[in-house]
Amino acid sequence: PVEGEQHEFSAEVGRLLDLVVHALYSEREIFLRELVANAADASDKRRFEALTDAAKTLPPDASIRIHPDKEARLLTISDSGAGMSKEELAKNLGTIARSGTRAFGEKLNAAKPEDRPSLIGQFGVGFYAAFMVADRVDVVSRQPGSEEAWRWSSDGKGAYTLSPATREAPGTDIILHVKADADEFLDAWRLRSIVRKWADHVSWPIVLREGEEDKPANEGTALWRKPKSDISAENYTEFYRRVSHQFDEPWATLHWSAEGTTEFTALLFIPSARPFDFMEQSRESKVHLHVRRMFITDDAELLPAWLRFVQGVVDTEDLPLNVSREMLQSTPVLARIRKAVTRRVVNEIRNRARDAENAAGFATFWENFGPIVKEGIWEDSEYRQELTGLARFHSTHGDDPVTLDEYVARMKPEQEAIYYLTGDNPGALANSPQLEGYRARGIEVLLLSDPVDGFWPDRLHSYQDKPLKAAAQAHADLEKFETPAQDGEAADVSALLPALKDALGETVKEVRASARLVGSAVVLANDGGPDPMMRRLMQRSGQ
Ligand code: ADP
Ligand code: MG
Repeated sequence: PVEGEQHEFSAEVGRLLDLVVHALYSEREIFLRELVANAADASDKRRFEALTDAAKTLPPDASIRIHPDKEARLLTISDSGAGMSKEELAKNLGTIARSGTRAFGEKLNAAKPEDRPSLIGQFGVGFYAAFMVADRVDVVSRQPGSEEAWRWSSDGKGAYTLSPATREAPGTDIILHVKADADEFLDAWRLRSIVRKWADHVSWPIVLREGEEDKPANEGTALWRKPKSDISAENYTEFYRRVSHQFDEPWATLHWSAEGTTEFTALLFIPSARPFDFMEQSRESKVHLHVRRMFITDDAELLPAWLRFVQGVVDTEDLPLNVSREMLQSTPVLARIRKAVTRRVVNEIRNRARDAENAAGFATFWENFGPIVKEGIWEDSEYRQELTGLARFHSTHGDDPVTLDEYVARMKPEQEAIYYLTGDNPGALANSPQLEGYRARGIEVLLLSDPVDGFWPDRLHSYQDKPLKAAAQAHADLEKFETPAQDGEAADVSALLPALKDALGETVKEVRASARLVGSAVVLANDGGPDPMMRRLMQRSGQ
């Protein structure tokens, strides 16, 4: 036991701490995020107080220091922040007051194990995460403008002691007596990787003691927090490469702050190249969520799946440092952010689609990510029409991709529908006999060969009131159009038809003479049946 005044924790805290500590093993490393966040908060607080009280001015080299001592089995996190008086130590670290102990306990018991770590922060008990890795925690603190320092000490089991201490300069040391099974947190290399992951963009320098040397541990600059005028194109590119692990230049850089009901800053990038393993990656957006510069998760799905190629970060002040998975899904704050961010990215893509001077850039973008964006036509009713308007398609009319607006503008006068043909292979599609009747009549057909092309045309149904029709199933429409002039006389094939039917037997339903072919002898007709691409997809999924 440590000498000094004995204090009991406020009601139930002891039992709760036990719960916290034992319920939280899955992500123990977040204790460091919590302690660094507190150190940064305290440093911010002192900087703010110094505005009105020069006696509280921070030393110019103010930093957050992490000092592992393997021999003594101590891990110390120090700051030069606002510190705590004796009363504040008791009040801030001796109670779980803000949200109520009982409520916290009930929540913790009910929560899924993976959500428990986040609950600590949500209830303002981030500090107690220290007991996940320490069997005793000492806090030595001195406030600027005061000569006296105090030591708070506890094993987290129900009581704490307060005793006078000394500290050379104002600030706080959090001293963790590291548990026997938590050796990893005495390892500088491990600590560095934790800082890098969770606290890289903290605005104060974080310094890690490695052997005899103090080395900077956070490199992130929270570029998104800087005014745009201070950021060069190189800064953006470097940051983009860092968050995305890609090596190209961003095609588009979007950097803005939103004010109003929900405040956030976003720095997003649309890559200019498609990552080589893109199709194997998961469908979820990996845009990073930060809360006040502190990394929270890349699982918040800040953008819809059909924009998952967008990289970058969103930082908000409107969430607690620790949000549970449950909360990530349900909080209106994130719903509002998602909505605003999606709108903004789509606007950017739309503006670039309209920018005739940079048409080549858009064409490359569409080649890279068009197949992903088209998933939105299928699954996002809110954006369906808009995305369709942006889309580019190969067609039977020339090599340049066309928009549906262009297609509609050059439709034949008697043409009522937009025709498309789906298939796996663009080359084979262009040579398909299915196209002959259309080609001969000068009717444009869209050639769709992306996986999602088997799905969205049905969902979209129509564009500018023109129905979309699968060319392979719409040969009957061709009768409306003037038949092309044929060379010579049509051969009489009436004797051939039953012979062919005999030879093919049950594999075909019927063998018919047709006027739709020009260069080919036969075509597999599929009138009324499912689209061939759709059929293959259905077979693949076992339907
Ligand atoms: P929160 O940070 O959400 O308030 P914590 O449990 O992390 O909750 O911390 C509780 C309180 O303890 C903080 O609000 C702050 O007043 C105080 N505190 C914690 N660490 C420090 C520190 N390094 N310097 C000064 N005050 C601190
Ligand atoms: Mg905290």
